[in-house]
Amino acid sequence: ILIHVTPLKDEHDQKVGLVAVFDDITEERKLEKMRSEFIANVSHELRTPLTSIKGFLETLLDGALEDKTIAKHFLQIMNSETERLTRLIDDLLSLSKIEAKKVDFAPKPLMLQELVQKMKLLFKSRLEEKELSFIISLPENLPLVLADGDMISQVLINLIDNAIKYTPAGGKIEVSADVKGSWVEVVVKDTGIGIPEESQKRIFERFYRVDKARSRELGGTGLGLAIVKHIIELHNGKVWVKSKVGEGSAFGFTVPIAQQAQKGE
Ligand code: ADP
Repeated sequence: ILIHVTPLKDEHDQKVGLVAVFDDITEERKLEKMRSEFIANVSHELRTPLTSIKGFLETLLDGALEDKTIAKHFLQIMNSETERLTRLIDDLLSLSKIEAKKVDFAPKPLMLQELVQKMKLLFKSRLEEKELSFIISLPENLPLVLADGDMISQVLINLIDNAIKYTPAGGKIEVSADVKGSWVEVVVKDTGIGIPEESQKRIFERFYRVDKARSRELGGTGLGLAIVKHIIELHNGKVWVKSKVGEGSAFGFTVPIAQQAQKGE
């Protein structure tokens, strides 16, 4: 903290006091540091797929093109790297829009049952591919929540996508919900690889991953959970994680219950 002190004088040039200005440079420095770290991270994340694409392109130009099987394999890798690059840019854009509050945030009374059912359809083929069971346990009388449907869909997509990615074949994913005071708490639980204790508090940071290589291989951008956290905070809700390595993870979030119209109104 920087303190500037200037004497305060009256009209006869007599000191009558002091003016102290506290400059919280530590906070400013911290922000500055975060910004430059973020830019370094983004550059690194963008460069990684580009380096890989360039490597395969050069090998193709150097003659690998002659072998059709090899060429096809390389093109497939380049294709998936390009897709990851696109996802990364999309995620960065949505994160920055949410952060700058430049999103159309339109909370409306919403039925979570419908949203979760839609998720089951959306992920059907991937769930089947990995022989994962998908269980929905929402109470029938779950109240409506006041939330932005598109955004909560994004939250569920990111959490279920992770649950699928990080759960070995044959496992189980369960989406449940319950009333907690004036909030509904939604939980996405899996029987996956789990997250070490020391990583749990960092998991919602941008680009933080337990295993970078594994996340990349699975097509991750490292931004999914940061987006989840931002969206839930926009709804004034909270996110949490509970996990045990080798047993599974549970991700929870809260959204406000939609105010019921008072009787007689
Ligand atoms: P990514 O694109 O890498 O999945 P996320 O922000 O969605 O990025 O998640 C950050 C990290 O948290 C992941 O790389 C992974 O290490 C860990 N993680 C997230 N969800 C799960 C889960 N359901 N099971 C185990 N690890 C998870």
